[in-house]
Amino acid sequence: MAEVLVYVDHVDGAVRKPTLELLTLARRIGEPVAVALGNGAGDTVATLAEHGAVKVLTHEAAEYADYLVVPKVDALQAAHEAVSPAAVLVASSAEGKEIAARLALRIGSGIITDAVDLEAGDEGPVATQSVFAAGYTTKSRVSKGTPVITVKPNSAAVEAAPAAGAVESLSVTFSAQATGTKVTGRTPRESTGRPELTEAAIVVSGGRGVNGAENFSIIEALADSLGAAVGASRAAVDAGWYPHTNQVGQTGKSVSPQLYIANGISGAIQHRAGMQTSKTIVAVNKDAEAPIFELVDFGVVGDLFDVVPQLTEEIKARKG
Ligand code: FAD
Repeated sequence: MAEVLVYVDHVDGAVRKPTLELLTLARRIGEPVAVALGNGAGDTVATLAEHGAVKVLTHEAAEYADYLVVPKVDALQAAHEAVSPAAVLVASSAEGKEIAARLALRIGSGIITDAVDLEAGDEGPVATQSVFAAGYTTKSRVSKGTPVITVKPNSAAVEAAPAAGAVESLSVTFSAQATGTKVTGRTPRESTGRPELTEAAIVVSGGRGVNGAENFSIIEALADSLGAAVGASRAAVDAGWYPHTNQVGQTGKSVSPQLYIANGISGAIQHRAGMQTSKTIVAVNKDAEAPIFELVDFGVVGDLFDVVPQLTEEIKARKG
């Protein structure tokens, strides 16, 4: 069976959920071979093996932490040469997409970004994408070289699939460019305790209807009752009510949670572009004609200042 390289996104050995989702998709098209780099790479092995990795290629070096993406591209290129895989899968984070694009260029391959599904095809893996501001769903495959595919978080379930997880040390020679751009400092973001927006299973968003930065506490309270991330429309971000890192949409982040709750958001095409692939969409809007109602699974026509606090209380009460 063909091997499929999966780039491992981890923090000091703790594997991030999008990588486990990639393993689920990789098993559909071949045998997953994970590539874990940097500090704690060896600590990822048990988790990766539990989720289907037949092999884990590891390499620890200071370069991965100290420099930007090129050392990781060098390592993936080395893994590509060692394995000759049927595809390379990378999670669609900002860093993941840069790594994937550089790798595809290096190995002379085509690339598909932001896939939301992946299946085996007669002529190679077939990726599903949501394109043109989510106006169309396309299926495509790479016809040149080894397909390099980035997949949006929450596109697949995390599945337990125990596999051998044989560990092999990857031999990597860093290129001259690898140390060209150095990370000179890091300022960790203040933790809100909420999940990362693009990876969250539930996202609760607020728009212009929230009518002020101070009122976002209503949105945050609902999010916290559900263990959700908080999103915002561009109108809310441009008004300075919520940080740009939380913006959902064409010029913000693209999310695909199990549940997306839009509060006081009209549903402009640029907002839809970032959330339309959510599995279940709920909207609260006082205008029954708001375009957001065209795409919802459940809609509440009402004032968010009445509806959202009641919803939060009800959820808290049911949780006990
Ligand atoms: P509005 O369109 O003003 O809608 C507010 C809604 O709140 C209305 O439907 C109203 O009925 C409802 N409302 C008001 N008060 C209440 C209440 N008390 N209770 C319940 N409902 C209430 N937008 C994004 O979101 N993300 C992007 O990434 C993005 N990128 C863009 C890129 C470009 C190039 C351009 C041109 C635009 C982009 N936009 C983006 C902006 C987009 O076109 C819309 O202007 C924006 O999404 C509107 O935000 P909104 O829905 O919060 O505000």
